[in-house]
Amino acid sequence: MDSPANSVYDLTPDDWNSFVKEWGLPAFRAGQIQHWLYQQHVASFDEMTNLPLSLRERLGRSLRDLGGTARLREHSGSEGQTVKLLLELHDGECIETVLIPARGRNTVCISCQAGCAFDCAFCASGKRGLVRSLSPGEILAQVAHVARLLGERPGNIVFMGIGEPFANYDAVLAAVRQLNDPAGFGIGARHITISTCGVVPGIRRLAGEGLQVELSVSLHAPTNGQRNALMPVNKRWPLEDLLAACRDYTAATNRIITFEYTLIRDFNDRPSDAARLLELLRGLKCRVNLIPLSPVDEFAGEPPPARTLYGFRDALLREGLNATLRTSRGLNVNAACGQLRLQSAGRTENGAAR
Ligand code: SF4
Repeated sequence: MDSPANSVYDLTPDDWNSFVKEWGLPAFRAGQIQHWLYQQHVASFDEMTNLPLSLRERLGRSLRDLGGTARLREHSGSEGQTVKLLLELHDGECIETVLIPARGRNTVCISCQAGCAFDCAFCASGKRGLVRSLSPGEILAQVAHVARLLGERPGNIVFMGIGEPFANYDAVLAAVRQLNDPAGFGIGARHITISTCGVVPGIRRLAGEGLQVELSVSLHAPTNGQRNALMPVNKRWPLEDLLAACRDYTAATNRIITFEYTLIRDFNDRPSDAARLLELLRGLKCRVNLIPLSPVDEFAGEPPPARTLYGFRDALLREGLNATLRTSRGLNVNAACGQLRLQSAGRTENGAAR
């Protein structure tokens, strides 16, 4: 506890209770500190004005300061638009957090790892491999940054930034509980989405957690051959295993799964692909989010023309599958997963950015 290596956001409500006890403080101090952190979104201990100065100084000496958990390095986008933050962690690693304003509710897309081991073909994050996983506090610090920017807690949280949530399962679940806890950020579980590239053991484990969070699965292709070409994870857990885990998940939780399907011209956008997708998802409680491919340097594919996009969606709708076509948000700030970090790392390696 008394180590500056600890981030304040790594501490759970129970930790804060033990913390104040250990220091001989009245129990209510734990609630006061958490109120400043999670409801007032302060940027420093100095702003916790109802704490004695001696306590604020002691907190500052004992815990990594609030800004030090994830320091803002770059900020792109403007108010009312998609805003992308590049945050630097205490060891110099960088992560991205994206704020997406939509229909009066702010959504924050957060990272759970620095880099990623899964190497999906159209994703910049996987290109440098996994550097390390984030602690719960490093995940929560991203939300705190955005809350400060907004002046209020964000409405929705999606684990769709850098990293695979089920490859950092314990930290992600600890962060989810703190996001959801009324003494934490107090964000409803149904407003928190965990997105996986298809890590089957994670889906099976989440089914037993008793949480009401949303689960999103990146599907992107209706056959193993196509999916192997896009997502190496499919070689480990092919579609049969993935869909079996999804069916068991919906049976155990009674919750709907969202499948993300990126449409790529002449690759997975044909009527035969729509027919295979329908077959794959038949009888499963789910919805499908269709997303036209965002142009990225790492992948040569193109988005289909508008007529194909709508034709694909309508083919699913006609058969009763709940399908929506999502227009790409955030392209103006280079918000395809991982790009900002990769560019920054590239500049750093060339010696220009740090
Ligand atoms: S899409 Fe997600 S799982 Fe795939 S490489 Fe990118 S960050 Fe990793």
